[in-house]
Amino acid sequence: MIDLHAHSTRSDGRLTPTELVDRAAEAGVTTLALTDHDTVDGLTEARRAVDAQGIAFINGVEISVTWQGRTLHMVGLAFDAQDSRLTDGLATLQQARLSRAARIATKVEKLGVANALARVQAMAGNGQITRPHFARLLIEDGICRDNAQAFKRHLRPGRDAHVSIEWAPLEAAIGWIQGAGGIAVLAHPVGYGFSGAWRARAIEAFAQAGGDGVEICTGTTDRQQEVTAARDADQHGLAGSIGSDFHAPEQFWLALGRLRELPGDLRAVWHDPRFQS
Ligand code: AMP
Ligand code: MN
Ligand code: MN
Ligand code: MN
Repeated sequence: MIDLHAHSTRSDGRLTPTELVDRAAEAGVTTLALTDHDTVDGLTEARRAVDAQGIAFINGVEISVTWQGRTLHMVGLAFDAQDSRLTDGLATLQQARLSRAARIATKVEKLGVANALARVQAMAGNGQITRPHFARLLIEDGICRDNAQAFKRHLRPGRDAHVSIEWAPLEAAIGWIQGAGGIAVLAHPVGYGFSGAWRARAIEAFAQAGGDGVEICTGTTDRQQEVTAARDADQHGLAGSIGSDFHAPEQFWLALGRLRELPGDLRAVWHDPRFQS
């Protein structure tokens, strides 16, 4: 059982890296990647926990990219987490997250949230501050009912607490991952709310920029979407990946490792020799 996309408290996940690994092992996952947003800080702790559980662990990260004015997510897998071009690149995104957080804080304070920046900083601790942290404030202060409503009303593009910033360029993110010896995967192509035409353009741009694979099966895809994504990947000579995008046990509909197999005979990223080390 393979799961190559999951989050911890180092970004917007609810479990520490150790708790995540323990839960994955309990669920029967045999190969796990931790892929926090724009940070590799959780990998050391996760690897320590994995050694105790005896499951295979793959270094991972989910890098925020701005492409054609839109946000894309690049999952990096099986890289050297000490590579300085990668860590320098991630440091610029972490800086961008911090300055964005200050601007979002001002906006949610206008909605009635008190002391927003200090509270998200305390909440995130040694992890990256993400929009779901602000969603939690809006819920805590009784302004929104749940995470979905907080995004729908306030945090998504075009809403009153949204702040758009420039993430990494597509080519740069792929270069950081591959320069560190890793595999670059376009995360959840059906998860951006794109039209079919824009989705096709994004996969094509990703392939042209030298990307390696596309995430085909996630915790929220249906078989039709998976078959379509696999066909698009195959058309561009890209391999396929699978990953739940697990964030929290409260997302009861989405479990670690509960993923379908890649459709047809699409080449799997985990057959790459870089996965064997
Ligand atoms: P950020 O990278 O800080 O802008 O936050 C992105 C994260 O917010 C994603 O990885 C999801 O976990 C979450 N997210 C994004 N859009 C939505 C949405 N419409 N509803 C719920 N969660 C969302
Ligand atoms: Mn997330
Ligand atoms: Mn994502
Ligand atoms: Mn994710």
